[in-house]
Amino acid sequence: MSDVSAHPSDPGPATPDTADWTWVLTRPCPDCGFDPDDVRPEGVTEILLDAKRRYAAVLARPDARTRPSAGVWSPLEYCAHVRDVCDVMRRRLEQILDGGGEQVRFADWDQDATAAEKAYWQSDPAQLRVELEAAFDAAAAAFDRPTRAQLSWPGLRSNGSRFTVESLGRYFVHDVVHHLWDVRG
Ligand SMILES: [Zn+2]
Repeated sequence: MSDVSAHPSDPGPATPDTADWTWVLTRPCPDCGFDPDDVRPEGVTEILLDAKRRYAAVLARPDARTRPSAGVWSPLEYCAHVRDVCDVMRRRLEQILDGGGEQVRFADWDQDATAAEKAYWQSDPAQLRVELEAAFDAAAAAFDRPTRAQLSWPGLRSNGSRFTVESLGRYFVHDVVHHLWDVRG
């Protein structure tokens, strides 16, 4: 009998997340307990660095490759997603800051297409940990950079959602915290 855990097969795409999560900027999330009022701009970096350690521990779990149910990402796949979220949010922040206070438009990001293209399920946990920690470090440094005056600088997502430097940081933190809740991390 072959060892299926050493040679996992493609589990197929997870159920796409098409929800618009911007409501978490104005009210608490009933799932993960995140409260937007608890996040101060100067606290974003610390939350990200704490999350980095918790995700690294998730990747070390023996069940990291196991999908908890059909259509739901494994912890490994969530970690790959969060790595890419860190990069996307950092680039959006840099784009706003490069805009010098003028409205900028974010390119669209299809997270489910990215998951399929990069075959998240095939990630190597040790390699992913290196990439995940680097992505968190870069994002944490980037969100430590804005001055108080820059916090209100605007960015527009392609679907029309409006962000500022401050609300982008809050939105990003929720994503990171919510996925820790997803993986019980
Ligand atoms: Zn949440």
